[in-house]
Amino acid sequence: MSKELLTALGLSTQPAAIHVGARAIAGSGPELSVRSPIDGRELARFQSASPAQIELAIAEAGRAFTRLRELPAPRRGELVRRFGERLRAHKRELAALVSAEVGKITQEALGEVQEMIDICEFATGLSRQLYGLTIASERPQHRLAEQWHPLGPVGVISAFNFPVAVWAWNASLALVCGDPVVWKPSEKAPLSALACHALLCATLAEMPDVPEGVATLIIGDGRGAGQQLAASPLLPLISATGSVAMGRSVAQTVAARLGRSLLELGGNNGAIVTASADLELALRSIVFAAVGTCGQRCTSLRRLIVQRTHYETLRDRLLSIYDRLPIGDPRSEGTLVGPLIDEAAYQRMQLALAAARTQGGTVWGGERATRNVPSGGIYVHPAIVEIAPNAAIVQEETFAPVLYMMRYDSFDEALALHNGVPQGLASAIFTSDVREAERFCSASGSDCGIVNVNIGTSGAEIGGAFGGEKLTGGGRVAGSDSWKAYMRRATNTVNYSNALPLAQGIRFDV
Ligand code: NAD
Repeated sequence: MSKELLTALGLSTQPAAIHVGARAIAGSGPELSVRSPIDGRELARFQSASPAQIELAIAEAGRAFTRLRELPAPRRGELVRRFGERLRAHKRELAALVSAEVGKITQEALGEVQEMIDICEFATGLSRQLYGLTIASERPQHRLAEQWHPLGPVGVISAFNFPVAVWAWNASLALVCGDPVVWKPSEKAPLSALACHALLCATLAEMPDVPEGVATLIIGDGRGAGQQLAASPLLPLISATGSVAMGRSVAQTVAARLGRSLLELGGNNGAIVTASADLELALRSIVFAAVGTCGQRCTSLRRLIVQRTHYETLRDRLLSIYDRLPIGDPRSEGTLVGPLIDEAAYQRMQLALAAARTQGGTVWGGERATRNVPSGGIYVHPAIVEIAPNAAIVQEETFAPVLYMMRYDSFDEALALHNGVPQGLASAIFTSDVREAERFCSASGSDCGIVNVNIGTSGAEIGGAFGGEKLTGGGRVAGSDSWKAYMRRATNTVNYSNALPLAQGIRFDV
């Protein structure tokens, strides 16, 4: 990564670990080394934030809240609108940094930044639409209505694989809702976070009526810093994106103080290919969903449930596409599969494949790719595994490109296999039969938060609410009415009569 790129984004190779608006404070916690998964090169080395520093930063966000909540929501929307404009102007540089830091291919990195721009536009419009209901009162001359008020500073804990978009989903909504944001990004992607923060601060500099403490960034040591946010009573909402193990631990800490948590956790996403499916369309969707981002999307396709009549054709076509996949430097034109994030991810992938073999599976691919790839990075051939649906490994999310394939006979069987895992994020069906499609979308169909027809499991638009059920955590972020999680609801009853009728007709004469 070039020095010019860092400079264009307002960054240095020895950045500070704490940022309260434009104020930067050098960390006094453990040292952090940031390496590129492309070639293992060190991109930056600096000290992370200490617990005492994190505490002070959170307190600053609390102070900013008392001012931000008084700022009219459309003015808060103006901040987000201008930030979106700045993202547009820096789209290429920010995408290049995302590629360098987490190894996404250029197209997907550009897509991630576009997602930030889209949510900024959505949130700007929303800043004039934070509507409450007016409700018919049962009492004469009474007005019953609800108002939505800012909630307080929001703690955002984000995962490495969407190092900028997940924060933007949260921050753009939180800011228009009147909530400052305290962001703890993944320790694997702090530079992308620093770049986003710098762009937001440049926007804040144009709007002196917005307190700078509305944007706080903490580069902590991972688990410890995340837990500190989760435990803080100054953060009424914690929005946490990452593994199920992380979510379980954050949820317990937040619940112990009766805080609110919004959890976006792991998926184990399945697709059903029925007898009436358009196989060409299905194939393209399956490959993008299974190998895109090298299988490191929460929505990556992990389980393919195929009607017996199509099974062998589909498997063989997939194997032949997998044989020709361009694997390599994610910045090169034409590459479709970049590196895994680190050696630990590779080891987990190998353990899963070994377990699949032990449990009776047949594995194609999965080994290290060594030709035409940069040295120092970890590149793999995406794997296809033919396995019995009841194999234990199929129940787990392995965050790597491993696609389990299984056969079914009846549609009911396919639905049962599809829903028979503990996670519930994204799902898809490939069919030309309207009855199958509608059944999949119905109450007795897919039990996931994202339910697609003739589209793969990954690549959601920001206009819909994003998230999943069961071990995925139940949270919803981005579009639709997800904004309500970032506000508190007040129900107002106003009596404009001279009498005092009580609700439910209760008589209480004094
Ligand atoms: P991870 O759980 O290791 O880390 C995620 C974040 O949580 C990081 O910032 C990390 O420092 C922090 N953290 C880790 N353990 C913690 C703890 N005990 N307490 C507090 N904070 C803690 O996840 P990852 O490897 O960065 O990301 C991959 C995982 O994230 C996958 O499971 C993927 O499915 C999931 N994910 C889910 C979504 C979604 O929207 N549902 C989106 C992206 C990623």
